[in-house]
Amino acid sequence: MAKMRDDVALVCDKCKRRNYMTSRDLKKEGKLHIKKFCKWCNEHIVHSEKKKK
Ligand SMILES: [Zn+2]
Repeated sequence: MAKMRDDVALVCDKCKRRNYMTSRDLKKEGKLHIKKFCKWCNEHIVHSEKKKK
């Protein structure tokens, strides 16, 4: 059975810290960009997906 979802880290665009883990649908094209609260920047910042290694 093929794996349909992939675990990725969500990295703050400002401080580059990995604040969240999520899973993405492998069938979807493009990278995830989700606006989430960053406790380090103390504000809502766009978080981009980074492949978990
Ligand atoms: Zn941040």
